[in-house]
Amino acid sequence: MTETKYVYDLNEGDASLKSLLGGKGANLAEMNRIGVPVPDAFTVTTQSCVAAMNNGGDWPEGLAEQVEAGLKRLEERTGKVLGSPENPLLVSVRSGAVFSMPGMMDTILNLGISDETVPAVAALADGNERFAWDCYRRFVQMYGEVVEGIGQAVFEDALTEMKQRRGVAQDTDLTAEDLKELTAEFKQLANEALGGHWTSDPREQLRRAVNAVFLSWMNPRAEVYRKAHGISRNLGTAVNVQQMVFGNRGETSATGVCFSRNPSTGVKELYGEFLTNAQGEDVVAGIRTPRDLAEMEEVLPEAFEELLATMDKLELHNKDMQDMEFTIEDRKLFMLQTRNGKRTAAATVKCAVDMVEEGLITTSEALLRVEPSQLDALLHPAIDPGNTAKPIVKGLPASPGAAVGALSFDADDAAERGGRGEQVILVRYETTPDDIHGVMVSQGVLTAHGGMTSHAAVVARGMGITCVAGAPGIKIDVKASTVTIDGTTYGTGDTLTLNGSTGEVFAGALELVPPSINEDFEKVGEWADAVRRLGVRANAENFEDATKARELGAEGIGLARTEHMFMAADRLPAVRKMILAETEEQRHAALEEILPMQQKDFEAIFTAMKGLPVTVRLLDPPLHEFLPNLVEQSLLVQRLELTGGSAEDIERERDTLAQVKRLHEQNPMLGTRGCRLAMLYPSIPEMQARAIIKAALAVLEREGETVGVEIMIPLVVIRKELAVQRAIVVKAVEEEFELAGRRLDYTVGTMIEIPRAALTADQIAEEADFFSFGTNDLTQTGIGISRDDAEAGFLGFYVDSEVMDKNPFESIDVDGVGQLVEIGVAKGRSTKPGLKTGVCGEHGGDPDSVEFFHRAGLDYVSCSPFRVPIARLAAARAALKDA
Ligand code: PEP
Ligand code: MG
Repeated sequence: MTETKYVYDLNEGDASLKSLLGGKGANLAEMNRIGVPVPDAFTVTTQSCVAAMNNGGDWPEGLAEQVEAGLKRLEERTGKVLGSPENPLLVSVRSGAVFSMPGMMDTILNLGISDETVPAVAALADGNERFAWDCYRRFVQMYGEVVEGIGQAVFEDALTEMKQRRGVAQDTDLTAEDLKELTAEFKQLANEALGGHWTSDPREQLRRAVNAVFLSWMNPRAEVYRKAHGISRNLGTAVNVQQMVFGNRGETSATGVCFSRNPSTGVKELYGEFLTNAQGEDVVAGIRTPRDLAEMEEVLPEAFEELLATMDKLELHNKDMQDMEFTIEDRKLFMLQTRNGKRTAAATVKCAVDMVEEGLITTSEALLRVEPSQLDALLHPAIDPGNTAKPIVKGLPASPGAAVGALSFDADDAAERGGRGEQVILVRYETTPDDIHGVMVSQGVLTAHGGMTSHAAVVARGMGITCVAGAPGIKIDVKASTVTIDGTTYGTGDTLTLNGSTGEVFAGALELVPPSINEDFEKVGEWADAVRRLGVRANAENFEDATKARELGAEGIGLARTEHMFMAADRLPAVRKMILAETEEQRHAALEEILPMQQKDFEAIFTAMKGLPVTVRLLDPPLHEFLPNLVEQSLLVQRLELTGGSAEDIERERDTLAQVKRLHEQNPMLGTRGCRLAMLYPSIPEMQARAIIKAALAVLEREGETVGVEIMIPLVVIRKELAVQRAIVVKAVEEEFELAGRRLDYTVGTMIEIPRAALTADQIAEEADFFSFGTNDLTQTGIGISRDDAEAGFLGFYVDSEVMDKNPFESIDVDGVGQLVEIGVAKGRSTKPGLKTGVCGEHGGDPDSVEFFHRAGLDYVSCSPFRVPIARLAAARAALKDA
C-alpha cells in the first residue's frame, strides 16, 4: 500500500486540485504554473486536517515526516534553512479552505525568526535592524496569540507601556533598540503565560502552527460562517507554508489587495488599496487606513505596471473577476493570492453581462455565475433619490444598499435584537470576524475604522448587508453604548440610516424606495427565460402585487388566496358573519354582502395580469384565523359582566362566545379548512365561482382582454370531494354565462397538499384539469410539523444542531416530501397524460427547491412577486445543469 500523499510542493499542484489543496493552495500552484511570480511554498492537504479531526486531533501516520520532507525540499529550492543563523528561511503558515472564508481562520507570519536568526534577517535587509526586530516582535505576538492562545491584551498592554515610556504615539516611532527590548519582554510574558513552556525551536513552532490552523477550522466564528454559507465542516482546511516576502522592508516595499474589477459595481476599473512599508494584515485587518491603489503608480511605477499586467493575465486565465493579494519586496512584485472575487449582487450581474459582451464567457456560463439568491439584494430598497437630508458623516461605501435601524454597539446585543426581528445598525470601531453573528442579522454595519477590503466589508458584501466602513472622526464609547458624530451623541434607542452605496450616514430614518432594476438585470432574466423549461408564476392577491409580479417576469398567477382578501378590518365582519351563520338564510345574506367585494378583487387581479392565467383558490380558512380567540372572547364577556356592561353588549358577546365555542377546534390546521368548509356550506364556493366569472366577463368587456381563469379547490383528499365541488362550481359558472349571454374558457383544478391526495392522485386527476402542489401544507402534514409552531420551537434547534440540513418550510425536503410530489405527478399523469402541474408553496421561490421541481417534471413554480426573478434564474440553471 502506498502512503497517502499529504504534502504537495508548489510545482506539484494546479487549479484542479482545489478540494485537496484548498482554494489558496490550488490558486498559488496555478499562478506559479502560468508564470505569475509567487513565493515558493508547499501545501498540507485538507485531507490531513480531516484525518486529524477524525483522529481526536492526532496527526495521521506519516504526516509529520511528510511536512519535514516538504520543508527540506523548500529549503533546498530557496537555498535557505529554517533556523539557520547564516541564511534563514522565514515562512508564513496560512489556512486555505476549499471555499474562501475571509478572516475566519488563522495565519502566522514570519515563522523562523529567532534570537539566532534575527541578525541575519537584518543583514539580508541591507542592515535594517529595526525591520528585523519589528518582524520578530510581530511574530512572537502572532504566534503567541494564534498558536498558544495567549490573550491579545498581554502583548498590547506591553506595547502601549513601551510607547508611553518612550513618549511616542505610533508603533513606527519605536526604534530598533525599543523593539529588541519589547521582543524580549514579549517572550518573557509569553513564557510566563505558558507556565514556562514557550518553545523557541522553529521546527517545533512550525509543527504547532500547522496544527493550530487545523484547529482553527473548528473555531466558533468559522462554524458560524460555515453555517451561514452552507459549507460542510467535513471539508477541512489545507495549510500553506510559504516563503515570506516582506512588504515592510522600507519605502520601496509595499503590500496590498486589488480586484480586477470594482467588486461593488462590477465596472472594469482600477480598484484596490495598498500600504508601503507594511505587512498584509495591516491592510486586511484595517489597522492602518490604506491608500488608493492609483497612488501606487507614482510611488512604485515598475511594480505598478507589472501588477496591472498580472491582474489582466489572472482574470483572463480564470475567466472571472479576481481578488488578489500582493506584496512588493524592494520593488519586486509577488502575488500571494488570487481567487474569484466576492462581489455585490449588482457587480455579479454587471460582470456576467460584460464578460459575455467581451467574449470571455458564454451566456450559459453567465447564468451559472449568478447565484439566484444574490438577486435578492438587487431587489432591496435604496434611499429615496429625492432625499435632501444632509449626511452627518461620510465613510467608505463598503457594501451597497440602504439600511435603517436602531443602534447596537455589541455583536451579541445585535444578534439578540436582530434575531427578534428588530431593525438594527451595528456600530463598531472596526468589526472582526468574531462579530459575524451580529453582522448577519443587522440591517447595516457602521465602522469607525477599516478600508473597503477589511473583513467587515468583505463579509457584509457577501451577505448583502449594507456597510459603511471607516467613517472618519466618529467617536464610539462602547461602555456607554453611544457614538458621537459631528458633536451629537446617539445611543441605543436612536435610529440612523446608512447608504452603503455612497458611504453616507444620516440621522433618523430616511424614506427608502424600492430598487430599480437595470438593463443588465433584465438581460440576465431574458437569457434565463430562453433556456428554462419551468414556467414561473407568482402568488398574489391584489392589483399591486400582481402588477409587480408581471413586471418582474411572472407568466401568470399561480395562487390567489381568496381568504387573504378578507383579513382587512373592514371586511372581516362580513366573513365572520358568513362563517358564524347558523341558518342558510343568514349565510346567504352574508354572502350577498361579500360577492361584490370579491368581484372587485378579482377584476383588479385580472386587469393587472392582462390576459395571463390566474389561478384563484377558493376559500381555505383555518377557522381560527377568522374567529375571535376563545380565551380573549371569554375574558371580554367576563369583563363586561364584572364592570356592568350594558345588557345588550353582554348578550351580543355571549352569543359570539357560544358560536366561537361551537366552532372551536383543537387542531384548526387539520380541521374545517379548505374544501371541507365548502362541503358543509356549498353556497360559499357557489358565490365565489360567480364572483370570479362576473369579474372575468367584466374585464373582458372593459379591457377587451381574454382572461385565463383557473378555479382551484383547496385541501382535497378524496376524489368525491373534488367531484362535488367541481359540480357546484361548474353549475354556478354556466349559470353566469347564461345570464351574461357570453362565455369564456376556464378550468377547474385542485391543490395537492395532503399526503393522501398525492398518493391517490390518479383518482383525483379524474376530476381535475390541473394540480397545484401546496408544499407548505404538504410539508406540514407530510413531516408532521406544525408550520405555525415549529419554527419558533424545536425546528430551529434541529437545524442548528444539524439534525436537519435545512428548514423544510424554506427548502423542500427532497427525500420525503419530494417523493410525495413525484408520486403525485406520476399518478396524476397516469390518468391524464400531460396533466398540468405546478407548485405554489413558499418553496416555489427557493433555488434548490426550484431545481428539484424541474427534475420532478412540474410545469411551473409560483412564488411571491419579489422572488420571481430568482425563480426564473434558478429554473434556467436547473435546465442547464440537466443538459
Ligand atoms: C400550501 O399549503 O402550500 C399553500 C400554498 O397553501 P397555504 O399556504 O395557503 O396553506
Ligand atoms: Mg395550503
